[in-house]
Amino acid sequence: MLSDPLDIIWRSADNSNPVFVAEDIAGVPPQVVTRLTELGVLRLASTATHVICDACDEHHVECVIPIKYPGGQTRFFIRCPENGRVEVPRERLLQWTVDYTPLLTALATALSAQGQITEVVPRRVWNLGRASLAGKSKPIWATRGLAWPDAGQIAVSLPQGRSPILFFLGQAGDDDLLDVPRESIIEMRTVMQMNGDLVIDCEAIERQVSDVAAPPVTKKTKKQTPRDATVGALKRELHERILSLKSAIRSADDADKPFDLPRVTQKQLADAIGAKPPAVSRAITKSGDLELKILLQTVESIDMIRKYSR
Ligand SMILES: [Zn+2]
Repeated sequence: MLSDPLDIIWRSADNSNPVFVAEDIAGVPPQVVTRLTELGVLRLASTATHVICDACDEHHVECVIPIKYPGGQTRFFIRCPENGRVEVPRERLLQWTVDYTPLLTALATALSAQGQITEVVPRRVWNLGRASLAGKSKPIWATRGLAWPDAGQIAVSLPQGRSPILFFLGQAGDDDLLDVPRESIIEMRTVMQMNGDLVIDCEAIERQVSDVAAPPVTKKTKKQTPRDATVGALKRELHERILSLKSAIRSADDADKPFDLPRVTQKQLADAIGAKPPAVSRAITKSGDLELKILLQTVESIDMIRKYSR
């Protein structure tokens, strides 16, 4: 099997400030380095200030001394206890940094995403706009470092709910880190390849996104009665409330403060969905809808809200 030319990039994704030296690049075919540089994924950085001596067997690290020669040329040297002054070829001092933006741009373009790419958290969280996937317009986001110690803070900047699709670089985070369905979380390296250009497997993305089961509230197999419509509206309203309470509770937890759960009355729910209180009361008592019952229990319990995920 051919090795993935992007392998070096994926492997760097969990390094907070990836810098490659000549030895790191040595195993990568030169044409791949050239192409990645042309694509802007690899960027030449300032030359290395230290290098391992390769004139003896001691593997000592030495400070590089640049010497300007007449004519403007600079040559580089190190001191070796055994060999004295040793010249280091410039190629050994080259360093590269990684810019993930071209990968994200390629992804957004392949998905025909609308809107600008915004870097929400520098080098960690990007909003790629919206794209039509599985027949719906969905917010597309990308992130890096979900397994890092500060992943909890990063997760706060990421969207929640059933709609957003989240691509990640590097290792996946803990199961309960993100409030989106598992199927909506896609590892970048599983859908992107370099084949001259950056190629995105849009079909694989579409397939995975289609696996996100439709939420029960959007099932419309039977003819809807007004009560069904009220039940549906109530469920959507409760779902939204629970999500925002969940995020408020999480902020309070993070700040180590107690959270005072506001009581939700039938009147408030009626106002929120534009229905009359008696209709809401009937929908709640007569529909026998198990999901509605659970949502009503959830909205009144901090513990259930914390565990709520859909
Ligand atoms: Zn030496």
